[in-house]
Amino acid sequence: MKDIWIADGHCDTLTHLLDRPCTIEDQRNHINIYRLKKGDVRLQFFAAWIGPRQKYGPPLQRGLRLIDSFGSMISDYSDAFLPILSYSDIKSLGKNQIGALLTVEGGAILEGELANLRILYNLGVRLMTLTWNHRNEICDGIMETKSQSGLSDFGSLVVKEMNRLHMIIDVSHISTKGFWDVLEISKAPIIASHSNAKSICAHPRNLDDDQILALASTEGLIGINFFPNFLSENKAGIVDIIRHIEYIAGLGGIDTVGFGSDFDGIERLPEGIEGPQDYDKIIDELLRLNYTETDIKKICSGNFVRIIKEVVE
Ligand SMILES: [Zn+2]
Repeated sequence: MKDIWIADGHCDTLTHLLDRPCTIEDQRNHINIYRLKKGDVRLQFFAAWIGPRQKYGPPLQRGLRLIDSFGSMISDYSDAFLPILSYSDIKSLGKNQIGALLTVEGGAILEGELANLRILYNLGVRLMTLTWNHRNEICDGIMETKSQSGLSDFGSLVVKEMNRLHMIIDVSHISTKGFWDVLEISKAPIIASHSNAKSICAHPRNLDDDQILALASTEGLIGINFFPNFLSENKAGIVDIIRHIEYIAGLGGIDTVGFGSDFDGIERLPEGIEGPQDYDKIIDELLRLNYTETDIKKICSGNFVRIIKEVVE
């Protein structure tokens, strides 16, 4: 039974590595190397989060600095981390190694240039969240409340180029109109790396039933976000994480659910969860609810691994 391990589709630890600055051993962060090992996380997505230009400066420069932090982490801890560039890298992971997959959160990093997407791919980026909360050259984010525009012409080109490059398209944070535009264009499975179900918690960052069904129809998935405000309108705990898992699996199928913790990107955590060391508690609860080992493995890591196999190859 203990062959269950974790894949987490989203964290913002790179921001701390760059800005504090600190190492991946730092105890102040939700994620550090000891906690990842304790939680049996064998695949961690690390996002280069492109925050607002007013605070963080030009997006591409900011993104490259975050990518440099990722590179330093990998080289300083080369025994512990293996960069994941393809499905075969996951297969070659040693028992004590953590696969680290580099992502970008916020297509503002492209600064309107398709060439930058190809350069990022060559730097090891295998997933891009098309927008953060606000407008960029690709699309509006969900918090761009006045316009709520969909994909620009440039955004359409980005989606097609991501398909061609075998990069995973992530629609967390995107406007509703943008969501449906991406669904129409992409030929590959699409994911929402860190979003929850709106029917359980009516936050604008969460997905409605039609969106969950649409992602399921692409054979994509939704990573459960641990931010209390996205989990529950009241105080959030592990039971709320389970509610979102159950709802999304009930609607889209067991192949549609994974974890997208948002560790180190959220200022509060649900009761009972302090970091990756606590994934066990979620697994225990799924076992108590009589989920089969096969289904638990899909939720915990199998579904994300399938996406990498199908999209990144
Ligand atoms: Zn986010």
